[in-house]
Amino acid sequence: MNKGRRKFLGYLLKGTAGSLYWMLPLPIKVPLQIPGLGEEEKYDPEAHEFVFMVDINRCIGCGSCCVADKREYQVPDGQYRTWVERYLITVDGEVFVDSPKGALEGYPEPRKVEKPVRDAFFVPKLCNMCEEPACVQVCPVGATFKTDDGFVLIDYKRCIGCAYCVQACPYGVRYIHKKKRTADKCTWCYHRVRRGLLPACVNACPTGARKFGDLRDPDSEVSKILRSSEPLFVLKPDMGTFPRLKYLHLRQEVI
Ligand code: SF4
Ligand code: SF4
Repeated sequence: MNKGRRKFLGYLLKGTAGSLYWMLPLPIKVPLQIPGLGEEEKYDPEAHEFVFMVDINRCIGCGSCCVADKREYQVPDGQYRTWVERYLITVDGEVFVDSPKGALEGYPEPRKVEKPVRDAFFVPKLCNMCEEPACVQVCPVGATFKTDDGFVLIDYKRCIGCAYCVQACPYGVRYIHKKKRTADKCTWCYHRVRRGLLPACVNACPTGARKFGDLRDPDSEVSKILRSSEPLFVLKPDMGTFPRLKYLHLRQEVI
């Protein structure tokens, strides 16, 4: 484990010890480009440690991220590389979750439940870019692989569409593409990142709920969050997948 990663895990552990929920002032200015990255030929995978963060307290469920993603990848109807879930938690702890059309049209109508609600929030979902990805382990032809800079990608020419990875992913982010007949999933827009651009969904998010940046850049927003006392959470930590996708203000009911 390299020094940066150990430090990162240290921050994460420190974060899970507390549960300080507070709102940052809105809105945060999200840069259109990742500072320090330029043309693709200058991209050095060894020089970066990208992370994705989602701040639950900032997500308004507008679905702009999902629309941007659909446009970027022409994702077939009924399939989603990213989506946003709506959570309602009643006073007696019952949890209601829905995500009509993956939130492509946002949530124009409130959801009515019989009991009083004590908490309501949105949870964007996407590939967790696991450090130990179950999808890579099960692929029988090596079509799913991890890059030197930690992105889990699919070689579509090599993929035979067996769907082992779809079954293995604990986060349900993979699917068999209706037209290509291969596995598919979110890539954190690796093609954009290599050119110094932000992932399309991060670029489209109007509230700064989706954050992306390089931990090797001490001035990046993600680095500053890591250095703060803000607790960070991952989904299904018991799975041993070590997601690089981190959540801020994630409620226990989602984990
Ligand atoms: S979230 Fe699923 S598809 Fe993404 S890296 Fe982890 S196991 Fe693989
Ligand atoms: S664009 Fe941002 S605020 Fe809107 S649903 Fe997506 S994450 Fe939430």
